[in-house]
Amino acid sequence: MQKEINSFKDLRSSKSFKNTRGREIILRELETRRDHFNAEKLYSSLSHKGPRVSRPTIYRTLKLLERFHLIERLDIKKNCFYYEPVLHKGDHGHLICEACGKIIDFSIGNLKTLKSMVVKEKGFRLGDISIRVFGLCESCQRATKASRRAT
Ligand SMILES: [Zn+2]
Ligand SMILES: [Zn+2]
Repeated sequence: MQKEINSFKDLRSSKSFKNTRGREIILRELETRRDHFNAEKLYSSLSHKGPRVSRPTIYRTLKLLERFHLIERLDIKKNCFYYEPVLHKGDHGHLICEACGKIIDFSIGNLKTLKSMVVKEKGFRLGDISIRVFGLCESCQRATKASRRAT
C-alpha cells in the first residue's frame, strides 16, 4: 500500500507525484505562505520572484494539491474561492465578507472537545471540519452605513 500523504514532503517522495520545476516552485512558495490565496494571487507573487511558472501549471497544481488534501478550498461565492494550506490551518474557522470577499481567521478554541463529543455521541467518524461564517466585515459595514446616511 502507498504511504499516506500528509505533507508536501510526503508528496515529493510519492511515486504518484511527478515533481517538475514548476511544481517545485509552487510547493516552496506554499510552504512559506500563511495567507489565503487563489491561483491569480499566486501567479502574481511568483512572477515577482523570478523563474516564471505558467498560469495553467499553477491551476493544475492547485487542483492536484486539493485532491491530495494538502490545501483546502474555501468557497466564497459562485466562481470565487481561495485556498489555504491544510498544514497551517490548525483549528480555525473563517469569517467571510460577502461584500468584499475578505477572509478573516478566527480560532475555535474548543474544537478538540467538540470533536470527541460529537464522535462519541453520534458514532461518527470525523473527517475535516470547516466552519464558514458569512457576513459583512467592519469596513464594509462602515461603507453601507455611510451610503445610507447619504441617501
Ligand atoms: Zn468587506
Ligand atoms: Zn484560514
